[in-house]
This record gives sequence, C-alpha cells and structure tokens, in this order.
Amino acid sequence: RQAQYRRLRNKPAVTRDGKAITVMLNAGLLVDLPHMDESGASGIGLFRTELQFMIASTFPRMKEQMRFYSTVLDAAGNRPVTFRSLDIGGDKVLPYLRSIQEENPAMGWRAIRLGLDRPGLLRTQLRALLSAAGGRELRLMFPMVSDVSEFHEAKAMVERETNHLRRHERPVPSVIKLGVMIEVPSLLFQLDELFEAVDFASVGSNDLFQFFTAVDRGNTRVADRFDTLNVAFLRALKLIADKARAADVPVALCGELAGRPLEAMALLALGFEAISMSPSAVGPVKSMLRGLDVGHLRERLLARMDPCHGNAGSVRALLRDFAKEFG
Ligand code: PEP
Ligand code: MG
Repeated sequence: RQAQYRRLRNKPAVTRDGKAITVMLNAGLLVDLPHMDESGASGIGLFRTELQFMIASTFPRMKEQMRFYSTVLDAAGNRPVTFRSLDIGGDKVLPYLRSIQEENPAMGWRAIRLGLDRPGLLRTQLRALLSAAGGRELRLMFPMVSDVSEFHEAKAMVERETNHLRRHERPVPSVIKLGVMIEVPSLLFQLDELFEAVDFASVGSNDLFQFFTAVDRGNTRVADRFDTLNVAFLRALKLIADKARAADVPVALCGELAGRPLEAMALLALGFEAISMSPSAVGPVKSMLRGLDVGHLRERLLARMDPCHGNAGSVRALLRDFAKEFG
C-alpha cells in the first residue's frame, strides 16, 4: 500500500470523470515540511501557527516567529501556504497565557476574539508574517470568526501593519490574500456578506461540526452520537460550496473529514474542489479520487439528501455501497 501511495505522488489529482482536485497538507511544525515533497501535495492548506506557541515556554518573539514563517515559505517554494493566525483557546492551551478559568473554553475567549481584544499579540504575529513573506505572496486566514465584522477588523489591522512596514521601507508581500475559517455556524447565515469580503475561505469541519451539532469534539461519550456524514451537516457544507461558487470565491475544507476517503468522497460530490489533510491521508485520498466518478456520485448523493426521502440520517451506507459498486 505505502509503495502504491508513493507511486501516486507525481500523478495528477484528477477524478475519473476529469475533475481536477487540489489536495493540500495540514501542517504546523518544521517536521511537517518534508511531507510536502513526500506526499506530492500541492501546497499547505492550513498552517496552524499556534503549534509553535504551544511547544514554547514563553511567547516566541517577533523575530523568532518571522524566521519560522520564512522557513516554511522557503520550503514550500512556489506552492501556496495558507497560514492561520493564532488559534489559542478551546482545545489549544498556552500554559503561559491562560490563567483565567472559563466554564466553556471552546466557546470562550479564543482565537480571533483574543486576537482582536489583545491586539498586541496579533499585531506582532501579523508583522512577523508580513515581513517573512516580503516580496512573495502571503495567504492568511482567521480562525473562529463568527461575524463578518471581525474579519473587517482583522483586515484593517493587516492594512495598518502593512503600511507601517512600508513607511519604514521594509519589504512587504507582493500579494496579500485574506480569508476566514468557516467553523462557527453563524457564518452560514452571512455567506453572502462573507464572500463579498474575503479572498478565500476554508471550512474547519472539526469545529463547525462541534458547534453545529452541539457535540464536543473531544468528548468520546458523545462522539458517535451524530455521524459526520449526517444529511443535516452535509446540507450545511453544500450551502457553503454552492454560495462560494456563485460568488466565485475559492473555498477549501481543512478539517479531519477531508482526510478520510469516504468523507472526502462526499465532499467532492458536494462540490468542494480543494481539500487539506494530514500528510498520511494524501495517498489514500488521492487513490480514492482518481477512481471516482464524482458526477455520478453527486447525482446519487443529492437524491438521497432531498427532503422527500423522509429521513435525514447518515449517508455512510450510500457512500460505502457506491464505493463497492464502482471501486
Ligand atoms: C477545524 O476546526 O476543522 C480545523 C481545521 O481547525 P482545528 O482542528 O485546528 O481547530
Ligand atoms: Mg478549528
């Protein structure tokens, strides 16, 4: 199997019916970088910047952050890297930052909320990112946005920092693309405004599923209660894919779903053309998609998702049958 996946490395990620899919990596540490070449992924779809902060014993200084981001961009060469600004809080704890106790940290003071309330932290990170990407493209997205205004605020910070660097005649990126993670359900009802504002988006299905179904992503007692392939959730994902296409905004999905072949099948059928996953998933997913007639599956899946079916439930059985029949 491993050898078979390695052989796929240089083969195009195109479905059997000719649809090109962008397969990218999730990363966060330097050890992840060699996987880019090994897996044949076409870039980094999610770079979790908080990991550098989580393994440190104090806040990494601006220069340290900058060197780190530079190394990542150098390793990627001309492959795109989508950085995510600090996603601290919830399941991602910094021992040297959070002294306050929250009853419900997943829904507490975290990610972009913390970034906007303590702008010093985010500003330092933005400066490091903008400098590291001097003369090249910077792609940056913000986590846990629940209102489009938070994106506008964050974007204004990026602009201020860029102007600051320019004033001091320091290098700035040649292109800046800004996006958000879609991982809070309130964004599902602001997609028109959102896609008007952003350059791109990426669905964080781990958190989106958690908040959509009220199922704690880390609690094994409730983990099996709702299948991630349940129709209600797939309808939400389809809405995102449809609206993004209509607005002509590139949208990817970078949660764990993307790395599981059966789930990835469903994502492609719903219209996602870019998915980002852990390195070990690239081979299996690529192998799946090269054999998939995505147009055919889409027809079956959408028929099953039609409310006239009478029972929302899970489409896992349908996908398994389809895989058996055609795979
Ligand atoms: C997600 O929420 O799906 C995601 C990709 O981000 P993280 O797992 O880091 O919260
Ligand atoms: Mg998340």
